Amino acid sequence: MNGDKRVLITGAAGFLGSHLCDRFIKEGFRVVGMDNLITGSLRNIEHLFQLENFEFYHHDVSKFVHVPGNLDYILHFASPASPIDYLKIPIQTLKVGSLGTHNLLGLARAKKARILVASTSEVYGDPLVHPQHEDYWGNVNPVGPRGVYDEAKRFQEAMTMAYHTYHKVDTRIVRIFNTYGPRMRLNDGRVLPTFIGQAIRGEDLTAFGDGSQTRSFCYVDDLVEGIYRLLFSNYVNPVNIGNPGEITINEFAEEILKLTGSDRKVIYKPLPADDPKQRKPDISRARELLGWEPRVDRSEGLQITYDYFKSLPEVDITPKDF
Ligand code: NAD
Ligand code: UDP
Repeated sequence: MNGDKRVLITGAAGFLGSHLCDRFIKEGFRVVGMDNLITGSLRNIEHLFQLENFEFYHHDVSKFVHVPGNLDYILHFASPASPIDYLKIPIQTLKVGSLGTHNLLGLARAKKARILVASTSEVYGDPLVHPQHEDYWGNVNPVGPRGVYDEAKRFQEAMTMAYHTYHKVDTRIVRIFNTYGPRMRLNDGRVLPTFIGQAIRGEDLTAFGDGSQTRSFCYVDDLVEGIYRLLFSNYVNPVNIGNPGEITINEFAEEILKLTGSDRKVIYKPLPADDPKQRKPDISRARELLGWEPRVDRSEGLQITYDYFKSLPEVDITPKDF
């Protein structure tokens, strides 16, 4: 049914992009993946290369984007996403959120394609409203270290709405909250792969600050389902997709120690600048509009993710710079 529909997925070799490629292939779409591999890996999509309905372009989307042929949908997921990544490559992060988004909106306009852009809970910054509803405007430090990511994403949303309003481009905006699952990089610095990597290597787990800050972790399959439903809805304003199950970093560390059977302890390191103190999505909009809510609870999702990390070759569990 979807066999004649063609979707471009940027950031295809990354964690979320690769899962989206799998989903759209499964639904019968022709998928065009695009990635410059700055934080992604072809290993995440190597199983797709043999398929007739999958193509891949190695390209930096901050430069002019050309895709021959028709496109029906564009999912713009290219961007470093982990704090240590975007702090190492701040200018590229600003460019992919701004210039990259501009290029893809232009492509969507030219191809008459619907475009969904990946925004983030980081647009709420260190939130003063809890849980975070889409109508909250956020509390972002534009000149702090995280500003390169947060402001790029806020600009991305503004540019997307402007293309919708002034050029009548068919747009969608998803605000993604912390998501985890297989194909995260063990060394990407995000809390879940860091803790699991530390536990596998028999090291203590490093909580930043006093570990009282909270996050709400969503399993990747739930996120992909929410994005899929949003793309095929008629709703153009931002929609939060995330799991409202909120947990402190200290509690999360204890869960990982238990899951992995580690006898190590939690040690404390300085809290990074502007690290949000609390984060939990209000998903009432997604519930009402998309009939969506997460289905995979944390114990199940963590077990699947731990099994994935354990299955990696030894070389992959050694921390290294990308
Ligand atoms: P990731 O680093 O695994 O994937 C990002 C991919 O984009 C990588 O493959 C990278 O090589 C590619 N990329 C980066 N800059 C590019 C450029 N200029 N041109 C082409 N490709 C480029 O990260 P992820 O977790 O899969 O995140 C994907 C998207 O989802 C990002 O836009 C991110 O901001 C957003 N997001 C993710 C989360 C999360 O919890 N994972 C939360 C909020 C938002
Ligand atoms: N964090 C931590 N130890 C680590 C890595 C991260 O305590 O080794 C904390 C971090 O300070 C933040 C939370 O875990 O409060 C989530 O961090 P992550 O980088 O995963 O995502 P984000 O801050 O973007 O939500």
